[in-house]
Amino acid sequence: MSGGGRHEPGQGAAEQPNSEQTELLVIGAGPCGLAVGIAAKQAGIRCVLLDRRTIVSTIERYPLSMTFFSTPERIEIGGVPFIASHEKPNRRDGLIYYRRVAEHYGLDIRPGEDVVEAANVSDNPTAARFRLDVQRRHDQKRYYANAMVFATGYYDNPNFLDIPGENLPHVTHYFVEGHPYWRQRVIVIGAGNSSVDAALESWRAGATVTLVHFGEGFDHTVKAWVLPDIVNRVKEGSIAVRWRSRVRSITPTHVAVVSEGSDRVELIPADAVLAMTGYHADTSLLQRLGVPVDPVTGVPSHDEATMATPVAGCYLAGVIASGNDANRLFIENARGHGDLIVRHLLQTGGAVRTEPRQSGDPISASLR
Ligand SMILES: Cc1cc2nc3c(=O)[nH]c(=O)nc-3n(C[C@H](O)[C@H](O)[C@H](O)COP(=O)(O)OP(=O)(O)OC[C@H]3O[C@@H](n4cnc5c(N)ncnc54)[C@H](O)[C@@H]3O)c2cc1C
Repeated sequence: MSGGGRHEPGQGAAEQPNSEQTELLVIGAGPCGLAVGIAAKQAGIRCVLLDRRTIVSTIERYPLSMTFFSTPERIEIGGVPFIASHEKPNRRDGLIYYRRVAEHYGLDIRPGEDVVEAANVSDNPTAARFRLDVQRRHDQKRYYANAMVFATGYYDNPNFLDIPGENLPHVTHYFVEGHPYWRQRVIVIGAGNSSVDAALESWRAGATVTLVHFGEGFDHTVKAWVLPDIVNRVKEGSIAVRWRSRVRSITPTHVAVVSEGSDRVELIPADAVLAMTGYHADTSLLQRLGVPVDPVTGVPSHDEATMATPVAGCYLAGVIASGNDANRLFIENARGHGDLIVRHLLQTGGAVRTEPRQSGDPISASLR
């Protein structure tokens, strides 16, 4: 890797106004992107992290009263202890922790920078391999990078039902809190953790809740300590359910529900619809760069031992590597991707350390 500011003759990185070159560029400043930034910092590799929103924006958009299912030590990064006053940290604890870690390591994170295009501009490993076009609030910027990491997560892309009325203003794919639904008739679509949390919280806030799901019951992934609560609310009739049923359309006042094996359409009055149908990674930029994506699993081609894709210098970190089964990877089991990537960068010989290593860092110690 070349140092910051160097570029191959004729590519014009440094001459262009509003352009910049770096060794490693990470798209996405979620927990797994941050872990890449920390590993790079520890190894002395110059790294810039771009985020279209802000640091850990997925956690920012969790329901306000959300508690992690992980205990704090399972979602720590960079060896920085995550101290929480409860067994499971909450959303606010998470926001404070990850901000603090980023500040502790002095990561170069740039919020409000949306990567809209990426191209492979050189096969020369000593020159900038990638060109990235970034849309900022008031202007555009172009980056050149020797290596890049997609750590873009999945939370920006809800799984749409593609039914009439899904874009009406009272329909949302993100649950924030129960309060707005007081004395409202709420339809919750889905039976996973997000649906269960939304149904219980809305009901406790005074909503009349009906949960609609195409399956026969709650997902096996529903948190063990929450399951009895929802099962009992359904049993006692506090929360209504329509199993083996699908919402076919949404109007400003009703949802049309059809049960499996029946042609009969049930019209259920609805003031709000919480479509908790999950999220998926957007792999379009990766595919344009030439990274193949499995048409069945949705997994972008990569080596799990190094997180390297078949496009030299291009890596995956975090949930983007999960494919369609977005719950396969999460912070706990993806926070180590940063170490794998940086180790591979150093071992393949392309990396030139341009900054002093941080003392006591685990990666460079293991490679000495
Ligand atoms: C309610 C809820 C509770 C959860 N609880 C837990 C838990 O207890 N334990 C656990 O391990 N996991 C948990 N998860 C999952 C966890 O949030 C995700 O696994 C984690 O956020 C993934 O991290 P990431 O860095 O891969 O992606 P993300 O955190 O999603 O970060 C991706 C970032 O990339 C940015 N981005 C995307 N595209 C671009 C672009 N083109 N240009 C610039 N920036 C871009 C986004 O703005 C975002 O900030 C939970 C998830 C939810 C929804």
